[in-house]
Amino acid sequence: MPEHIDVSVLRTLLDGNWHEVRDKARKLAADPVFAFVLGETSEQQRQRVLDRMRVLTELGYSRNGFPTKYGGANDVGRSVTGFEMLAMGDLSLLVKAGVQWGLFGGAILHLGTERHHEKYLADLINLDLLGCFAMTERGHGSDVANIDTTATYDATTQEFVINTPHDEASKEYIGNAARDGRMAAVFAQLITKGESQGVHAFVVPIRGDKGEPLDGVRIADCGLKAGLNGVDNGRLWFDNVRVPRENLLNRYGDVAEDGSYTTSVENKTARFFTMLGTLVQGRISVAAGAGSAAKVALTIAIKYGDQRRQFEKPGGEEVLVLDYLGHQRKLLPALAKTYALHFAQLELVAGLHETTGDLDAPITGVPNEHPDRRELEARAAGVKAIGTWHATNTIQVCREACGGAGYLAENRLPGLKADTDVFTTFEGDNTVLLQLVAKELLTGYRDHFGELDPLGTARFVADQAVGTVVERVGGWRLLQRLRDVRPDINEDGSIYDHDWQLVMFDYREKHMLETLAKRLRKAAGADDPFAVFNAAQDHLLGAARAHVDNVLLHAFVHAIEKLPEGPEHELLVRVCDLFALSTIEAERGWLQEHGRLTATRSKSLIAAVNQLCAELRPYANTLVDAFGIPDAALDVPLLNR
Ligand SMILES: Cc1cc2nc3c(=O)[nH]c(=O)nc-3n(C[C@H](O)[C@H](O)[C@H](O)COP(=O)(O)OP(=O)(O)OC[C@H]3O[C@@H](n4cnc5c(N)ncnc54)[C@H](O)[C@@H]3O)c2cc1C
Repeated sequence: MPEHIDVSVLRTLLDGNWHEVRDKARKLAADPVFAFVLGETSEQQRQRVLDRMRVLTELGYSRNGFPTKYGGANDVGRSVTGFEMLAMGDLSLLVKAGVQWGLFGGAILHLGTERHHEKYLADLINLDLLGCFAMTERGHGSDVANIDTTATYDATTQEFVINTPHDEASKEYIGNAARDGRMAAVFAQLITKGESQGVHAFVVPIRGDKGEPLDGVRIADCGLKAGLNGVDNGRLWFDNVRVPRENLLNRYGDVAEDGSYTTSVENKTARFFTMLGTLVQGRISVAAGAGSAAKVALTIAIKYGDQRRQFEKPGGEEVLVLDYLGHQRKLLPALAKTYALHFAQLELVAGLHETTGDLDAPITGVPNEHPDRRELEARAAGVKAIGTWHATNTIQVCREACGGAGYLAENRLPGLKADTDVFTTFEGDNTVLLQLVAKELLTGYRDHFGELDPLGTARFVADQAVGTVVERVGGWRLLQRLRDVRPDINEDGSIYDHDWQLVMFDYREKHMLETLAKRLRKAAGADDPFAVFNAAQDHLLGAARAHVDNVLLHAFVHAIEKLPEGPEHELLVRVCDLFALSTIEAERGWLQEHGRLTATRSKSLIAAVNQLCAELRPYANTLVDAFGIPDAALDVPLLNR
């Protein structure tokens, strides 16, 4: 292992394309205005968060993700990276900013057209207009297509009538609704000429100038939450509230004065997914925020473990807790996975930036047809799910790794836990998102089957029996190739060989998908296709997880390839080994069941993970320093005693 590591080399790699935003955010974090304050009431927290949003606005932070014509900076990558950095500090601020500029602003920008941009964008960027994103209902959260709020067109007045038909259709958990929001992007079933055209979004004013609810709008406060209490989540009911026809966010579907409906996406399901697809930025941002919170927690726990001593060695001094293998096992594989997620995130942000394109370009109703967009959306869903679960689990582990001190609010870990817990649920519940990932991968399989004649299909199935893996679907181009993964070959390669690791990851993903495809094919002729599908749901979720693990490993390998040979390269190869081998270790039961690992090799994996933990322990501090977390975010009593 190398003697000297240049942290700045690692930092440059981690900072990626939008490094100047990260540096700016690091400086900003030192401003006392963003200092941590404990023990405030919810009302005080809400006010403080709003004040902080105004500071961010003055600094131009809110401009990044909007067209220049309205005061924006036309740089989506910059916007998401800024959001990621914000997550190292006040998470309520992060979420409220996300609601205002990401969700409300994003709905106006991506679902609206020029008339909405002209009317609202400059004001919402400047915080002269605070808005909500009102999609979820009490009765329907994950299942957005079946929400019950209606928007019925009245041709006589050329208005939409927004209505909450029953209590289960009330809008629930809506950020900015309880206190500050003046307007909402309300998702509702569009009905015109007696026909439902599916879910669309409408701009609906909810409060007057003095903050009073407008006629027909009822607003309630969701009250105290487990965390994020600086965000004013609320409930909304609409009692036949009338808005002008022009308030329909009409990029993909419009209603003419006489009530006739036109759309650029004829298929209703496709239209629905086109509309939701435009909101992918939110998912990528939440995953980025979760990653930052995990990094802060790991940095605190690793630095503490490097100071805290418990129990003497026989005849010697007290031992640093990070020198215990058990402690290293808690923190270092989690650190390695955090690196993997970070690299996958960098690729996602670059992909989002590229596929979103120029925000200043003229608006059309044509869905984003960038060839990589669909894959990006699926990958964003998967990384969001795995990344937010990783964050909440890692923060808990870090809390325990700091013992009792970790439980004190002043040391940040309880706040990080409480505030990021719900990241697994909002912007798409993780279990539901993983199903999206698996379905997207299966679509690739359907295409594959479609290309084969009956003989080809028979051969394809026969090939499964001898373990030949077909070409990766929905996967990575660079390493997209046929891999022969007969067990005898697996046993030959060194477990430290990245090719062997990639083969294991590939095998797990492909085998799970192939066997899933076979199971689900039975649904086609079944009396109860839902029962067939539901009986395989655990399998489906496992396949999606395997896919995301594979995405992470490939992203890690690509990132390392960017570093020239040298000590930092050598170190990252070891970190990547730890990610790969600890993941294979966690799946070793499955791999053994499927004949891909012998018991001997399985045991050697455990020894290898232990060995890697010991090797990386001296570099743990360096590896967290490379994240470049602002000092203010780490200024906790536990590290200052
Ligand atoms: C703090 C907070 C802020 C929020 N902010 C907003 C906001 O500003 N605007 C907005 O519109 N919404 C907001 N939400 C709502 C959020 O997006 C929803 O909570 C989320 O979409 C999940 O919906 P749900 O809570 O109804 O859960 P449900 O969809 O009812 O899910 C409940 C459980 O059922 C499981 N489940 C559901 N369907 C399936 C399935 N097909 N297969 C297997 N399991 C399944 C889920 O995994 C989950 O465990 C917010 C929520 C919170 C908590």
